[in-house]
Amino acid sequence: MTGGPTAGVDIGGTKIRAAVVTADGAVLASATAPTPSGGAAMLDVAAELVERATATARVRVAAVGVGAAGVVDPVTGEVLAASDSFVGWVGTDLRGGLAARTGLPVTVANDVDAFLVGEATWGAVRGVRSAAGIALGTGVGGALWLDGALYRGAGAAGEIGHMPGFGDARCTCGQRGHLETLASGRSVERRYGEAVVAGGVVGAAEIEARARAGDADAARVLADAGRAVGSAVLVLAALLDVGHVVVGGGLAHAWDLLEPAIRARLVDEPPVSGHPVEVRRAVLGGDATVVGAAALAR
Ligand SMILES: [Zn+2]
Repeated sequence: MTGGPTAGVDIGGTKIRAAVVTADGAVLASATAPTPSGGAAMLDVAAELVERATATARVRVAAVGVGAAGVVDPVTGEVLAASDSFVGWVGTDLRGGLAARTGLPVTVANDVDAFLVGEATWGAVRGVRSAAGIALGTGVGGALWLDGALYRGAGAAGEIGHMPGFGDARCTCGQRGHLETLASGRSVERRYGEAVVAGGVVGAAEIEARARAGDADAARVLADAGRAVGSAVLVLAALLDVGHVVVGGGLAHAWDLLEPAIRARLVDEPPVSGHPVEVRRAVLGGDATVVGAAALAR
């Protein structure tokens, strides 16, 4: 536990970001760079960004927290699994490698875990005892905050993106019918592309704009995504009795289009416990993972 600033690092598929964060969750300085190829190169960049951010903030940090893409072993600090886009990342000693480079104690977690810690410490579910986090990005990530602490299991607890029961489409993992095939940014793009003949490749942001402009296909794929998220919320509520779910990630930008479908699903089939579950949009935006990682370092 430390009262001074700590550093948070967000290691993603396209960029790595480090920030110096106060005990109140304020970002004093940050630095960003493209993600290089290979585990050692990624750690080199992460360490350099921590150094740059601390130099800009003109403070010393007592510890570093990392939220990294992939499954991270909470005990060994090693990367256990990651998508194919991360070359040479699986098997990297994330905690040991970054501690050696920075000379600081390092705490590691999955990026969606860090996102949820950020939202639970300073964001949309601040002060809430138990909550689940769902990140609707390129894929779908999930995380659990139970009784005031992150619940990690063997490193992949709450990873609902690859939960079955959502139709028959092939998932990025090779299996079929996972939540991710309906609710990720990539699946929204794919499903819209299938619905619109000769439409070319249309990005999620454009689909969102078309839905607002009255395009029925665009509205339908986003409503399907929302309904799928609603079903996932019901599973989380049934299994864990969490009272709150926070939804973030790039696709959450379409919140006004997703939320009615999520809510309709919850009204159709309210949790049998009788306990209402409240679904909120994330409020920390792109900062959630770095500030959550910095909180984890405390
Ligand atoms: Zn899958």
